[in-house]
Amino acid sequence: MKKTEKLALLLLTAASSASLVAAQSSSGGGEACSALACGVGGIMYLVILLLCLAIPVALIIFVVKYIKKDAVVRGMPNADSIKWLGLLGLLGLLIYLLQRPQGNVAPCPSCGQNRMQGLPTCPHCGNA
Ligand SMILES: [Zn+2]
Repeated sequence: MKKTEKLALLLLTAASSASLVAAQSSSGGGEACSALACGVGGIMYLVILLLCLAIPVALIIFVVKYIKKDAVVRGMPNADSIKWLGLLGLLGLLIYLLQRPQGNVAPCPSCGQNRMQGLPTCPHCGNA
């Protein structure tokens, strides 16, 4: 009787310690897994955040540069200031496209850069 009690106690201890070790190792694995998932999720979050910031900034830079170039081609005297309309993004581009001088753009015979037809002098080289 005493021998079986001792054996049962030993088995119980072994089983409980084994299950404890298993639980610890599995919870450690869960921690590692969650840390990995958190890292991946954090990186994905940062990437998405950067994309959300970078796309509008790139769009605004593109619109500002396009307006500046187009305003110079069309001989607008306020080309340096009207390009800031591009800070409004696509709305600024729409406003600019509606209010810019309308006309065909063709290459200049003197310098080859684009100029609007009907301008007295080329905005790039100054020739007529
Ligand atoms: Zn020219």
